[in-house]
Amino acid sequence: VYQLLANPVRVSEQVSGAVILVLDVTEKQEAEKMRREFSANVSHELKTPLMSISGYAEIIENGMVRQEDIQNFAGRIHTEASRLSALVEDIIRLSRLDEAGEDELPMEPTDLYEICEDVRSHLSKSAADQKVTFGFRGVRAEITGVRQVLYEMVYNLCDNAIKYNRPGGRADLILDVVNGRPKITVKDNGIGIAKEDIDRIFERFYRVDKSHSRETGGTGLGLSIVKHGAILHNAKVTVDSEPGKGTDIEIVFN
Ligand code: ADP
Repeated sequence: VYQLLANPVRVSEQVSGAVILVLDVTEKQEAEKMRREFSANVSHELKTPLMSISGYAEIIENGMVRQEDIQNFAGRIHTEASRLSALVEDIIRLSRLDEAGEDELPMEPTDLYEICEDVRSHLSKSAADQKVTFGFRGVRAEITGVRQVLYEMVYNLCDNAIKYNRPGGRADLILDVVNGRPKITVKDNGIGIAKEDIDRIFERFYRVDKSHSRETGGTGLGLSIVKHGAILHNAKVTVDSEPGKGTDIEIVFN
């Protein structure tokens, strides 16, 4: 690539065609590498709950558990199965975002206020369980988009604002229109994110604290779905966070 670019004298239509081809190959190789890494991560992430499930089941099967502990073991199997199910659903959501054509993800006029209302009502119980006050305020706003994907984006951000919080904390969902552009803000006064992690949280399976994410049922894919959803809608996502103080995440649509 360098040689071709560094030799402008010889640039002709043919050569510039070759440059594009070479870059295309590099891009394909990069995409292929990312796919391989993703597959390796997926199989690791799937195996973890599966191994727990088969381990607990085997112990019960061999009669190695006291009668009074069976319920406890069944509960663990249930938790791991739910985790597995959440993981499979997120993997499917993400691959649909990556690979689906326009037919599968039809863009249509979508009411953002209604989506925010839906997310608020679906997460109110989980917020109450975690003793986090979760509020929504907003104005009416509509964009051309894919309803299901927009719902998943707002849901994942609010779910995080509630999960990575503390009893007595707050999580707020705000829908504004600024300079004619709809803006969704999710802010919390929870645990916050360190500077060095902010750049990485949108990577697939990246978690700042793996055990906390597992405890709260996180898949490590929530923010990757937000990122790919933002790309699909030509929206910009910004994160502002301080450990111990809280996190603000904004999505601005065009
Ligand atoms: P997870 O399923 O683990 O929540 P996400 O992709 O949604 O995965 O988020 C990636 C990581 O970013 C989380 O594991 C968590 O460490 C961090 N994170 C995301 N949102 C917040 C937040 N509001 N406050 C603090 N940490 C957060």
